[in-house]
Amino acid sequence: MALKPISKIAAGVQASTTLAIDSLFKQMKAEGKDVVGFGAGEPDFPTPEHIKQAGIEAIEDNYTKYTPAAGLMELRESACYRLKTDFGLEYMPEQIVVASGAKHSVYVALMTLCNPGDEVVIAAPYWVSYSEMVKQAGAVPVIVAAEEEQDFKITAAQLDAAITDKTKVFMLNSPCNPTGMVYTREELESIAAVCCRRNIYVIADEIYCNLVYDDISFVSFASLGDDVKERTILVNGVSKSYAMTGWRIGYTASNTALARVMGSYLSHSTSAPSTISQHAAIVALRGPQEDMQAMKRAFEQRRDHLVERMNRIPGVSCIKPQGAFYVMMNMKSFIGKTMYGKKIESAEDFAHLFLEKGLVATVPCTAFAAPGFVRWSYATSLAEIDKGLDRLEQFVLGA
Ligand code: PMP
Ligand code: GLU
Repeated sequence: MALKPISKIAAGVQASTTLAIDSLFKQMKAEGKDVVGFGAGEPDFPTPEHIKQAGIEAIEDNYTKYTPAAGLMELRESACYRLKTDFGLEYMPEQIVVASGAKHSVYVALMTLCNPGDEVVIAAPYWVSYSEMVKQAGAVPVIVAAEEEQDFKITAAQLDAAITDKTKVFMLNSPCNPTGMVYTREELESIAAVCCRRNIYVIADEIYCNLVYDDISFVSFASLGDDVKERTILVNGVSKSYAMTGWRIGYTASNTALARVMGSYLSHSTSAPSTISQHAAIVALRGPQEDMQAMKRAFEQRRDHLVERMNRIPGVSCIKPQGAFYVMMNMKSFIGKTMYGKKIESAEDFAHLFLEKGLVATVPCTAFAAPGFVRWSYATSLAEIDKGLDRLEQFVLGA
């Protein structure tokens, strides 16, 4: 007998392109292929020594039991300390909820805010997981396009026009994955005014807050006023700032009522994240920040080099991102052309051919709602960046 159909919601979710490319890249490498990776966005640096030691000590000191579902009080206090020190934000530990990575924090925030049928406005290009997580919550993603000509940032008027009676949330991501763009204070103030006037929540994903270059200052959305703070679920974590992607610690800061519901939600799903990782995260947030600053300087140098060289390669171009560690390569000039006997219909075709023929892994931005672009993550060494660009040059010139 045929089995009954599975959940429509689960069946409608697409697998993550970023993680799929990363797995393919790692598999090709394991097979001995000389492939260069610009796929998944994760720092190439190891986790700083003092943070690793905190993890080791946590095991040795037998911190290996359950913690409260919303996280250790000391970790929640440490998150408050960072938010106050870095952005002047006042949160109480009860308003911090720790989850298994910032991805999970976004997920829990969406599950907490959305009813089936609610709309969530997402500015495109957007990180691939947002639309799928919205769908997992039974809500409807409403995509608003920010073009390259507008530095991939939507305007307050565009947001206003996309809001309907069903809109519950606006997903804000600055610095943005995949564009690397950072909203200015003025832009955020205009967006905040719309969110308050139209009475919608904002999930402000600020996971790249420490990776902002050119003396640009990062503005935390919740710092724009009491009404803004009340309706914002701020998402942050340790993955990107402290090279801790595998430790799986993210957190939210929100009003107390929302935090309580998120804590309850977690208590019946994952419970708290790994106790060992929580102990390491306390040290990351409280300890010296020099390693993070050194990684930031390295990323900035790599960005400058990548952008400068990429713009000298015929047929492709990129605007200079101000944060995170991604570059959006415009490859529209190849669409409709034939390369290596294959017609290029999309960024996906280009990226697959580039991996196959050029042995370089990049992420096509089709799943980020930016079909004419391929994302390069420059969280890799300058030598690898040069190798990748040499191969890009050969790939486009040899086609
Ligand atoms: N938000 C954005 C915009 C990201 O790029 C990522 C990276 N995957 C995350 C959240 C999730 O980070 P984490 O690894 O902590 O889940
Ligand atoms: N945020 C990273 C990326 O966009 C990590 C992979 C993922 O979780 O999507 O590549």
